Amino acid sequence: MIIDVHRHLIVQGTVQGHYIRGAQKSFVMMYNKTHNTNISPRDFTDKIVRPWIDPTADNIIEEMDAAGVDKTVIFAVDYGLLFGEAPIHAFDQNKLYADVAKRHKDRLIPFMAIDPRRPGALKHCEQAYHEWGMQGFKLHAGVGYMPDDPCCYWVYEKAAEWNIPVMVHTGGAPNSTPALRWECSRPAYFATAAARFPETDFIFAHCGDIGWWREAIQAAVWLPNVYVDLSLWQKPYKKWPKPRFYQWLREIVDLAGADKIMFATDALYPNLMCPLAEWVQAFQKRDTDIEFKDEEIDLILGGTAQKVLRLKN
Ligand SMILES: [Zn+2]
Repeated sequence: MIIDVHRHLIVQGTVQGHYIRGAQKSFVMMYNKTHNTNISPRDFTDKIVRPWIDPTADNIIEEMDAAGVDKTVIFAVDYGLLFGEAPIHAFDQNKLYADVAKRHKDRLIPFMAIDPRRPGALKHCEQAYHEWGMQGFKLHAGVGYMPDDPCCYWVYEKAAEWNIPVMVHTGGAPNSTPALRWECSRPAYFATAAARFPETDFIFAHCGDIGWWREAIQAAVWLPNVYVDLSLWQKPYKKWPKPRFYQWLREIVDLAGADKIMFATDALYPNLMCPLAEWVQAFQKRDTDIEFKDEEIDLILGGTAQKVLRLKN
């Protein structure tokens, strides 16, 4: 089974304008560097991102089918307290994700994106979990709280009680005004939270990113309840000489074990640089002499996620 544990819908009204204007500068720079192009932020938005808008996610299912991906975890990002509310309120975005997952039952798994400091957040998440069937939390501490701050404890406690994981952003952040706080997304701070809540499973999104991956892997090595996802690593895969990418992959598998590592995309943006099918092939049809056991690849592509998401075979 192949599971992508990290993806976003492209739906109008889900992202606040101030954020997206700054963020496009980062995303278009990455896109241009990957493709050796020089397109403007405006063309990037109009010609490349806009065609992907689909509030039904039917296009995502099509892309998954073509790439052989069985299931995908989907969630919003709760930026509202930092940037101001998006046209669709964070709570309504979670409902939208739950509804889309219902439309594609057995294919899409919705997580609740939440800023734990929001008034009414606990009550909202209780409804999202019990009534809408949402199956995990998603935190982005870059909006301005520390992962080990007591304001987050209720999320970690509920995750343990409900037997669902907490996906946390670890790594960099694009341009934005006001700025996302990079230091709040350091794996070390989430490691402290994970150490304090051993009954809660944490997924360190992006495996710490290119700067902090050792820190993320260090947490996965020490703490039984810490896992990593490989979203955003499509760019190193595309840009590095292939042996370097597989050396890196071999290293993290040797250190943390494939049972701690999960395939992921963070689509849409990384899929524009490396299509979903190509990213799957990077694991299934490896262009390298570096050896990986079939069991290791099976765990990375879906076995680990099956366990963390509590999916039945
Ligand atoms: Zn993401």
